Amino acid sequence: MQTHLLGYPRIGSNRELKKACEQYWAGKINLDDLLEVGKTITQSNWKLQQEAGIDLIPCNDFSYYDQVLDMTLTVGAIPERYQEIALKKPELDVYFAMARGFQKDGLDITAMEMTKWFDTNYHYIVPEFQKNQEFKLFSNKIIEEFIRAKQTGFNAKPVIIGLLTYLLLGKEKEEGFDKLDLAQNLLPVYIQILKELEGHGAEYIQFDEPFLALDLTEKAKEVYQFVYAEIKKQFPKLTFIVATYFDGLKDNLSLATSLPVDVLHIDLVRCPEQLDEVLNNIPNTLSLSLGVVDGRNIWKNDFQHSLQFIKKAVQKIGSERVFIAPSCSLLHSPFDLDSEKNEETLSPEIKQWMAFAKQKVYEVVNLKKLASENPDYNTLQILAENKKAIENRKTSPLIHNQKVKDRIDVTTESDARRNNPFNVRKEVQQEVLQLPLFPTTTIGSFPQTKEVRNWRAKFKKGELNAEQYDILLKQETERTIRWQEEIGIDVLVHGEFERNDMVEYFGEQLAGFAFTQNGWVQSYGSRCVKPPVIFGDVYRPNPMTVYWSEYAQSLTKKWVKGMLTGPVTILQWSFVRDDQPRSLTCKQIALAIRDEVNDLEKAGIRIIQIDEPAIREGLPLRTSDWQNYLKWAVEAFRISASGVEDATQIHTHMCYSEFNDIIQNIADMDADVITIECSRSQMELLNAFADFKYPNEIGPGVYDIHSPRVPSKEEMVELLKKAQTVIPVQQLWVNPDCGLKTRHWDETEKALIAMVEASREASKEF
Ligand code: GLN
Ligand code: ZN
Repeated sequence: MQTHLLGYPRIGSNRELKKACEQYWAGKINLDDLLEVGKTITQSNWKLQQEAGIDLIPCNDFSYYDQVLDMTLTVGAIPERYQEIALKKPELDVYFAMARGFQKDGLDITAMEMTKWFDTNYHYIVPEFQKNQEFKLFSNKIIEEFIRAKQTGFNAKPVIIGLLTYLLLGKEKEEGFDKLDLAQNLLPVYIQILKELEGHGAEYIQFDEPFLALDLTEKAKEVYQFVYAEIKKQFPKLTFIVATYFDGLKDNLSLATSLPVDVLHIDLVRCPEQLDEVLNNIPNTLSLSLGVVDGRNIWKNDFQHSLQFIKKAVQKIGSERVFIAPSCSLLHSPFDLDSEKNEETLSPEIKQWMAFAKQKVYEVVNLKKLASENPDYNTLQILAENKKAIENRKTSPLIHNQKVKDRIDVTTESDARRNNPFNVRKEVQQEVLQLPLFPTTTIGSFPQTKEVRNWRAKFKKGELNAEQYDILLKQETERTIRWQEEIGIDVLVHGEFERNDMVEYFGEQLAGFAFTQNGWVQSYGSRCVKPPVIFGDVYRPNPMTVYWSEYAQSLTKKWVKGMLTGPVTILQWSFVRDDQPRSLTCKQIALAIRDEVNDLEKAGIRIIQIDEPAIREGLPLRTSDWQNYLKWAVEAFRISASGVEDATQIHTHMCYSEFNDIIQNIADMDADVITIECSRSQMELLNAFADFKYPNEIGPGVYDIHSPRVPSKEEMVELLKKAQTVIPVQQLWVNPDCGLKTRHWDETEKALIAMVEASREASKEF
């Protein structure tokens, strides 16, 4: 039996890589300094794994920005627009230019697109393919990293994105070809890399092929067969591990087990039920890597549970053919639980239930020891401790709240329904709200200036007391309300100055959440996120936003919109419990948000927005699982929104969303108004709503807030005209694409003034 990891976090124990990259980009350190940081991180990762006793240590899991972009550079798939710098600049500068764009030396080159890595919050840089795309070995990173590992005494296992997965992750940048046809051109580069690795003494190679756990076309299946047959033919002596994760093999089972490779890795956290089927179908030339330690979450492994899987596999195929591993790369886990010291936000009782990347390494090693025939005394001691922690978590009063469970039991379908359908509500709302045609509003946040962030930092450090902090925030809120009144916005917002982050802010006020100090996970490039931890039954002990909404409304006769984050988004952007279905946790959050919505209404707030930007990204990887997810996700939103009178107008907001395939579900959410990102796509996203004859009101974003560029009134008028050709004018709102928190005030002022003018101009025609 052997242990291995599919990959390890590379940001460093204190986000050293983030800091070094940002300093390098700012010109504060030089290339050698940056490379030194990279080397130190990889060395210490390897050492940590070796000391723990991992048998196969991965290399090339390190990256300065993204592992997919690494592969793009490796195979020389450099888009035409970077060719000029590719000739002159060091490799890493070309690489960063592709990731981040390049605006220097009279050049202005746009970055490559970025998108989510499967259903994680990690983003990769999307490869760009041309019709007759050629590939050649451009970067030697894989080989160099292997040699470096070897020189320091590790015969490491290079981790390489599988050829099919690499192609399937990319985008065809012109018409008239299928990216899968590029396999022929790409294969020789893979062969060349393998030759070099073999020449330098590599024995094991890991190919990541998560697409084997997704829906595949017949053609893709054929290409899989072809590519791996070629590879094995040329390298009979190398041991190939094909890694699948994030879902089960399901209908690709026979394909995956028939590939001529040596080890197949399966994710038994996401899809434990696949083990039996795999064991029944595995040919005797194939070994099995069991992904039993959750690489995507922060909970301690239940050893007894994992050992059942391991024992079953050993019984069927023998221990020599069994590998033990985390379910996927530990890239998605925070670094080290030992660095969590704040007992106020993460109590020792909760902490003992958790494991970060470093702890997971030891879990893998301990599972191997425990699975051996005669575990020693110390090992049995570890098992006993594990049992105790697991048992403690199961029965802890911290987790279980009978009131919450009882409330879930009595929640019925009618709690997820407004009193009357939209056409009835619309009239009542119009009577109360008296809004003009093309009503203007914003998505919630106003610029979080350095000052505002500074106040928060000082407040946290105790340099400002609660009262002083409150006064400053009130001043900023009032200034923002006055300014919106002055320029003539119809529905105002308070500006969200009191919030650090749209999920953390609510998590901090809800029961059942804990927070880490250093639980960072890479999101993209140098960006990391620190998700809250949902450990127990969720409820709302006290109102969360009423204070600020009430205050803002007291300042003005205009309507101020209440501002909440929706249950699906809170769930999606947190580490969640694994002891109950996500749907149930989501329902608990929904009830907590419902309480807040109802209290806002009681406080006189007549328009309430419940943001759900993460609804679409929560879609399961397999389309056959979509409807089940959408059913509970939409229901959760409806539970949160349906406790109010007809006259109270519920808004929702979504960004980065393509709605074509889920428009029915968006309509089922039954928000009175939905605001969506639309300007970058020139209103094309609206077509889905138009074709569907979406009945409720819509605010298609008329300008892109992700860029500092100030749009003109004329272009927004144009976009509104375009919108009117597909959506009846009575249904349209005018707003930016998303919240303004990352923008500066001067851009924001100019853009919103122009937006209000555009709305007025558009309504002149009526
Ligand atoms: N109300 C939030 C804001 O304006 C919405 C953010 C989002 O959609 N991501 O900041
Ligand atoms: Zn948004």
